[in-house]
Amino acid sequence: MSRATSATIHLGALRDNLRRSRDLARPARVMAVVKADGYGHGLERVARAFDEADAFGVACIADGQRLRAAGVARRIVVLSGIDEAADIAEMHRLGLESAIHHRSQIDWLEADPDPRPLKVWLKIDTGMHRLGFPPEQVAAAHARLLALPNVDADIGLMTHFANSDVFGDTQTTAQIECFERIASEFPGPLSLSNSAGLLGWPQARGHWVRPGGLLYGISVVEGRTGEDFGFRPAMTLSSKLIAINRIGRGESIGYAASWTCPEDMDVGVVQIGYGDGYPRSASAGTPVLLNGRRAPLIGRVSMDLITIDLRKHGDARVGDAVILWGKDLPVEEIASRAGSIGYELVCGMTRRVRFLEDPN
Ligand SMILES: *Cc1c(COP(=O)(O)O)cnc(C)c1O
Repeated sequence: MSRATSATIHLGALRDNLRRSRDLARPARVMAVVKADGYGHGLERVARAFDEADAFGVACIADGQRLRAAGVARRIVVLSGIDEAADIAEMHRLGLESAIHHRSQIDWLEADPDPRPLKVWLKIDTGMHRLGFPPEQVAAAHARLLALPNVDADIGLMTHFANSDVFGDTQTTAQIECFERIASEFPGPLSLSNSAGLLGWPQARGHWVRPGGLLYGISVVEGRTGEDFGFRPAMTLSSKLIAINRIGRGESIGYAASWTCPEDMDVGVVQIGYGDGYPRSASAGTPVLLNGRRAPLIGRVSMDLITIDLRKHGDARVGDAVILWGKDLPVEEIASRAGSIGYELVCGMTRRVRFLEDPN
């Protein structure tokens, strides 16, 4: 028998989430961000569900290659662009667009003999301080790109927010103002917003929004789930109960004996652990869904198994299905119990997790 652990991907939820993002963004267009294997949902699978996206955003050329191999004909933007001179030929071969965030990338373009124009997006660092040209260097970088015959003259401008999940935050206001000041000097398409920007910053639509998490139904806004904003979770992680054991009062459960039974009680063992991608840092009390009702995790998460408190589940039977996150149990809630965010959890499914598809 194969392990019971599976991640079910809800294709209808992905479609609905894209549609809702498009409605929110209009008239701006939507670049669906599908990096990290479609936030762990499976790149080719999500690309099929997002076939109405105006473009795709990926983190590396290899993802662009996979999308083209899967028959995706839409525009694809590599969000950190070329990593070395040889990437330019590959970008042409695959018809990809490149972010340009550093002068070394312009050096490679200047030295490249291929005359075909590459489509580029100039990345501006408006305060995130990760990738991009600082405001005072943008004009010079833009002029260098515009002077190149092998760069398409319709140069996009983009920036990325550091704190847009805090609605009303002053850093984001400053980032938007900084971007607008620079963008007013150039004609190209503009792109500012990630998911939280799309939700909380209507003044930052630009011509293109770049949602990722929301398309998978996940929010990074503190204390609020994707469902709170009308999005549907696209992944259900489930497994099953493989043992029910009666453990005596005062006995401890699992590694490091971190949890002690306050009374004689039934302890359930579920076939999932950090070897599947369930977070080891999930604390005692983190809920799972057993037959539609919540049961708390007790003891440490181990590699292959977790243990749960069955005191309120007298009807539980070996073989019962257990949901670790999904509808009615937001991954955001589990993540906050584990000191993480929903994105990290869904990105962390390991290779032994079976992926299933649900048309809804
Ligand atoms: C990851 C990423 C996004 C999407 O962010 P979400 O919070 O998932 O919406 C958008 N733009 C860039 C540049 C990114 O790296």
